[in-house]
Amino acid sequence: MTAPESTKRLIVVGAGPKAMAIAAKASVLREMGFRIPEITLIEQHSIGHHWKPESGFTNGQLSLGTSPEKDVGFPYYSFLWGDSINRKINYRMQRFSWQNHLVDNHEYSEWIDRGKPAPTHTQWANYLHWVFKKVEGDIRLHQARVEELEIADGIWQVKTTTPDGNSVTLEADGVVLTGPGEAKFPFHVPNHPRVLTVPSFWKAFSHYATLERGSIALVGAGETAATIAASLGAANPRIQMDIISPQAMTFSRGESFAENHVYTDPFQANWLQLTRQDRKNFISRTDRGVFSVAMKQELDRLRNVEIVPGKFTKVTVDSLDQLVVQIEYNSGEETRIYDHLIFSAGFDHAGLVNRLLSRNAQADILRQMGEITLTTRSLENQIDHFLAVEKLTPYLHLPMLAGLNQGPGFPNLSCLGRLSDHVLARYVSVESVTNLDNHFLAGVDEAFPLDGPSGTPHTTPVRCV
Ligand SMILES: Cc1cc2nc3c(=O)[nH]c(=O)nc-3n(C[C@H](O)[C@H](O)[C@H](O)COP(=O)(O)OP(=O)(O)OC[C@H]3O[C@@H](n4cnc5c(N)ncnc54)[C@H](O)[C@@H]3O)c2cc1C
Repeated sequence: MTAPESTKRLIVVGAGPKAMAIAAKASVLREMGFRIPEITLIEQHSIGHHWKPESGFTNGQLSLGTSPEKDVGFPYYSFLWGDSINRKINYRMQRFSWQNHLVDNHEYSEWIDRGKPAPTHTQWANYLHWVFKKVEGDIRLHQARVEELEIADGIWQVKTTTPDGNSVTLEADGVVLTGPGEAKFPFHVPNHPRVLTVPSFWKAFSHYATLERGSIALVGAGETAATIAASLGAANPRIQMDIISPQAMTFSRGESFAENHVYTDPFQANWLQLTRQDRKNFISRTDRGVFSVAMKQELDRLRNVEIVPGKFTKVTVDSLDQLVVQIEYNSGEETRIYDHLIFSAGFDHAGLVNRLLSRNAQADILRQMGEITLTTRSLENQIDHFLAVEKLTPYLHLPMLAGLNQGPGFPNLSCLGRLSDHVLARYVSVESVTNLDNHFLAGVDEAFPLDGPSGTPHTTPVRCV
């Protein structure tokens, strides 16, 4: 049974930055007279949970890596809704900005006078909650854990468990999956209290920060590994940390205007014209296995953090309960003894997709995609303009896997305002505008005469099929 044409139902799994971006944009489109989908956010914990200490992804005090001005409306450059409407959307979206959040909380002048410091993750979570309070009238928040995504009669059956243990199934025409996905953890690692994942490390941070002595091996060379090394290395100079890096060195990511602007606006950077290999090179040079410049500077100041060239292959526990770590480098093997081992080898978003999809839904999707397995590669190759798996019904939006096909900024915080346009364009069409808020439009025309710079190349409104 599908909903009447006019009211599509969109479910967003997770109430983090991407969900808030979609909710804020939908709220502005509704105000302006567009017919928007019925949006439900399903969150197992709280708004912005992954940016809070209890999530296991951070201790809350870490600094946000991206500028907070890359907020839920950034880059304030809509281009899917028709030229004059785009700039009115850009204008209205500003009320959800980071600056407005600070103004609302009387913190703006202080932030400026402090030199616009990077907010902590907890402050970023507070910002997301502030955005939620402004849109909660337009969307529904269903607090529950998504257990399974099933497909029946061409629509999603989203099976959830509420905090009090009730099973509730919601129907939807489209689902957006958010969040980094499953923490990668090699299967052959012994289950040992001193062998940790990223979440188990952050939950035990205070214990590690007070250790009298110890040696820690950190497997992984990306931003998450750098964050762990920098925060623990600084908090506890008595411990020795070795970052085991397959590239034999740690690299800082390029943060020049040119590189940053590709994240903000892939169209201006002709992303879709680049070869796939060049796109992959760009992403590995600027995002995968690289440290932000700020993080690299922090690490370079620490005397108790070393880089060990090599690829982690194995860990065993010896008779003295020490961790014996095997490292492969230059076709040789090296053994090192450590007290603790932390795996920060990134996240597997395709793993999350496979875990949530029912067997039937997986089979249905594989048949529609013409694929044999749902892997990062098979999914990445089929992400369309709506950040969804191409030609798949019901719609499955995977922004975390949209980097290669649509632009490197979609998986992260680089262009949340653009992400919301792409996702909502699947459900909202320019024709759906019933009573455009002309009174408001007049006001903005005055403020924004049409003879200014005319937006991005794509000015023709996209027709959702
Ligand atoms: C610690 C950390 C710091 C990062 N810092 C940056 C940065 O500075 N800049 C940047 O660009 N990128 C950063 N990233 C990478 C990336 O941007 C983020 O992972 C991502 O964008 C976060 O936004 P999100 O909306 O996708 O999801 P998240 O904020 O990760 O939220 C996902 C939500 O989904 C919920 N959830 C998960 N599974 C279920 C389920 N089964 N049922 C119900 N709810 C569920 C979680 O509770 C969580 O609240 C960081 C990632 C991490 C982990």
